[in-house]
Amino acid sequence: AYDTIGFIGLGNMGQHMADNLVQKLESIRLHVFDVTRAPMEALVSRHPERVVACASAKEVAENSSIILSMVPEGSHVRGVYMDPVAGVLVADVSSKILIDCSTIDAATSLAVREQTLSRYPTASFYDAPVSGGVLGAQKGTLTFMLGCSSTDPSLPLLRDLLGKMGSNIFACGGPSLGLTAKACNNYCSGLIAIATSEAMSIGMAAGMDPRLLKQIFDASTAQSTILDKWCPVPGIVPEVPSSNGYRGGFKVQLMRKDFGLAVDTAKRLGVRLALGDVGLQTYTAAMNDPRCRDLDSRVVYRYLGGRED
Ligand code: NAD
Repeated sequence: AYDTIGFIGLGNMGQHMADNLVQKLESIRLHVFDVTRAPMEALVSRHPERVVACASAKEVAENSSIILSMVPEGSHVRGVYMDPVAGVLVADVSSKILIDCSTIDAATSLAVREQTLSRYPTASFYDAPVSGGVLGAQKGTLTFMLGCSSTDPSLPLLRDLLGKMGSNIFACGGPSLGLTAKACNNYCSGLIAIATSEAMSIGMAAGMDPRLLKQIFDASTAQSTILDKWCPVPGIVPEVPSSNGYRGGFKVQLMRKDFGLAVDTAKRLGVRLALGDVGLQTYTAAMNDPRCRDLDSRVVYRYLGGRED
């Protein structure tokens, strides 16, 4: 079903997702485009027979029956699909499947979907943001949150395709609900990182050994994936970003973006948040702190004045 696939946006995530597709689908040709040449050339040099670098998103779309995109923000997604000269929708995408994996606002995604369907009624457009980070992209163990119903006729094909890059694929109910699920997840995990940082700091200020405190949390109700796999306090769990100068992981500015998407969604829907503005201010300030910028978002512990020794 998929001899020709296109991939647009070969950044930290996209380059590994594209690699997995080429490696696991031995019969496909992958047409790729990124605004910077280096990641395209790197991918072509890894798979010279099977990957074709294109000059635009439009050219990718012309040569592919399924088109995936993985770019930073809503404005980039608009450009990729709706640029009047070089965008995907300049190509005839009738009967083609378009899948945007970027984490963006629901309104932009719905607008691109609407444009796609009004111009090409037989095409499909899906939001399919991911969780699992660069490591998950590398290993092919991402979680996909797919904006479609569980009875969508394309779901078996989508599961099979996305399954080459991920191990969990959730049909979230309808268009843009994949993005909603992603924003809700990161709202929650962002707040858990702040709460864990502050709770550990209280205990340490009172003289407790943070390793012991972590063991107690692990055996009690403060246990979490953040504490276990992304411990914000350095030197407790080896090989997590905090124990490596907060390098690697999920950048604080991406957390700020996703947190903002959740807060905006709540405002739009009239959902009252006790912690939304506090979290947003905290991640905004952390992102702008030169000691934190570009580092894993759990660096919020450092921003909050957590002890590092
Ligand atoms: P990135 O900045 O590393 O990569 C984005 C790529 O898109 C870059 O190579 C850039 O050159 C390219 N690009 C930008 N505009 C383009 C355009 N108009 N046409 C073609 N290419 C274009 O970002 P990333 O870390 O790969 O993240 C991509 C998306 O995935 C974001 O929405 C992010 O929030 C989400 N995400 C990231 C992670 C993570 O851990 N990095 C985890 C889950 C989700």
